Amino acid sequence: MAKPILLSVDDDSDVLRAIERDLRAQYGAEYRVIASDSPTGALELLKQLKVRNDGVALVLADQRMPNMDGVGFLQEARQIFPEAKRALLTAYADTNAAISAINQANIDYFFMKPWDPPAEHLYPQLNDLLDDWRASYRPAFEGIRVLGTRWSPRSYELRDFLARNHVPYQWIDVELSANDPETKLLLEALGPEATNLPVVLFPDGTKLLETVPSEVAQKVGLRTHAETDFYDLAIIGGGPAGLAAAVYGASEGLRTVMIEREAPGGQAGMSSRIENYLGFPTGLSGADLARRAVVQAKRFGVEILSQEAVGVRTEGPYRIIKFADTNEISCHALMIATGVQWRRLEAPGIDRLQGAGIYYGGGATEAISCSGEIIYVVGGANSAGQAAMNFAKYAERVVILVRGDSLSSTMSQYLIDQIKEMPNIQLWTHASVAEAHGETHLEEISVLCSDTNKVERVPASAMFIFIGALPRTDWLSGIVERDERGFILTGPDLIRSGQRPKGWALDRDPFLLETNVPGLFAVGDVRHGSVKRVASGVGEGSVAVQFIHQYLSKV
Ligand SMILES: Cc1cc2nc3c(=O)[nH]c(=O)nc-3n(C[C@H](O)[C@H](O)[C@H](O)COP(=O)(O)OP(=O)(O)OC[C@H]3O[C@@H](n4cnc5c(N)ncnc54)[C@H](O)[C@@H]3O)c2cc1C
Repeated sequence: MAKPILLSVDDDSDVLRAIERDLRAQYGAEYRVIASDSPTGALELLKQLKVRNDGVALVLADQRMPNMDGVGFLQEARQIFPEAKRALLTAYADTNAAISAINQANIDYFFMKPWDPPAEHLYPQLNDLLDDWRASYRPAFEGIRVLGTRWSPRSYELRDFLARNHVPYQWIDVELSANDPETKLLLEALGPEATNLPVVLFPDGTKLLETVPSEVAQKVGLRTHAETDFYDLAIIGGGPAGLAAAVYGASEGLRTVMIEREAPGGQAGMSSRIENYLGFPTGLSGADLARRAVVQAKRFGVEILSQEAVGVRTEGPYRIIKFADTNEISCHALMIATGVQWRRLEAPGIDRLQGAGIYYGGGATEAISCSGEIIYVVGGANSAGQAAMNFAKYAERVVILVRGDSLSSTMSQYLIDQIKEMPNIQLWTHASVAEAHGETHLEEISVLCSDTNKVERVPASAMFIFIGALPRTDWLSGIVERDERGFILTGPDLIRSGQRPKGWALDRDPFLLETNVPGLFAVGDVRHGSVKRVASGVGEGSVAVQFIHQYLSKV
């Protein structure tokens, strides 16, 4: 925990040095002693300390200073740190001024110069003041603070990114907590910068204004640059399939890098409770599974890069990956484990309000904000069911919208049973979203009821969309063969009429999980014909490493 601060201010350098020395000698072990020779400089410093969330226990100022006297300075300091004890250093001649300052300006004490010996004239009184201060002092949060507004898509994107990467932070909604005294003081200390939201404040005093996840990633130490430019195995995508491949690859001695553009865990990381993964009889959250897998991968030496892959090419035995920031790395074996992304819901208002009440997927960071509200979940698959169960813990009412007449053909029975037991979950069948309404954030939705052919307009605080997913593999077109929906073909799917794929020059067939490019593998949800489950992704990622060993033995 950072030590609280004792600040002394005096334009007379001899007095300043003396008070600093005496404070440090007595209190240096428990407090940080800071000195300033100008009241305006000291006020600036106090504002910086406020932004850093430091605690200030005492402000001690000389009464006679040019431009601003001690009483004036202490009154301004009080606006920034109201709880700090305020004391004045005065000459004998100023005693009357000091006494009236105590009465009028809420100053806690005045000390006469000189204060020798300090053991008699300084420390006993300061001990009293500091004991008093300590009694009501609550140490401030010491990690990252994110300032933004609930309905801002950029704030949402940032919070989601931090949460999914397991970076602890404190969220400060500047609108909702506008009347909170501490937030007010912080915003005042930030001045005009407080309007450049989202703002991220770091414990070292630095800040990022109007920031985006990639900037924060660099600052919090998520690696964005590769340690070296060549790897035995590179994996694009850090969902269950990519993580499993990384663990197996690295544990079997391959120099392995895993590239993930959002957060390790992939879709599974958004799941509030995975109940069918072997070995976890009471289920576990996707975030927990992802965290465990990342720790395991790192233990085996996997390098995890926070980057987006935007291109792949081959040069002889080398597979080269290009990143969004234009950097490149190369490898012998490359694995595509990029999974699938949510299908977009096409209706007026949806795109405009995305991130401001409308979210694709779990929106884990939003669940708690939905306390006491009416929210909608669109879709009838397991992912929608899990989300509804999670939101029902917080929301007043959760309404699941499905086009069909029941959940039975799309959702597992265990989830249907759990949903039936939840009194605040309601199923609305034959329903589809026709429009989303709201100026700055979602307020209402229009629902088309296919059984009555009527449109109903209902209030909605938030809507979470789970309507199936598609692979986004356009950036791989011309490199790997894909089916008509973009899923990547592997192994036997590439053999047509007994013929190996075009351009295939090896005297063997592609391995089971290998694409039409030797040494380039595809696993998990992105692969044509894969079973879209955590366990199957993990299985494919692990098995592929065996084929990679076979491939590498002949490179
Ligand atoms: C809400 C929800 C609940 C679910 N619940 C269950 C369940 O209970 N049980 C179950 O078995 N399955 C469940 N599933 C399905 C399961 O999560 C998926 O089948 C599984 O995550 C697929 O793993 P994957 O590694 O193939 O792909 P994904 O999990 O989709 O991971 C792919 C990763 O690749 C990254 N990526 C994509 N493109 C790039 C790029 N160009 N550069 C860098 N990175 C990229 C993505 O950001 C993503 O992190 C659920 C899915 C969802 C969405």
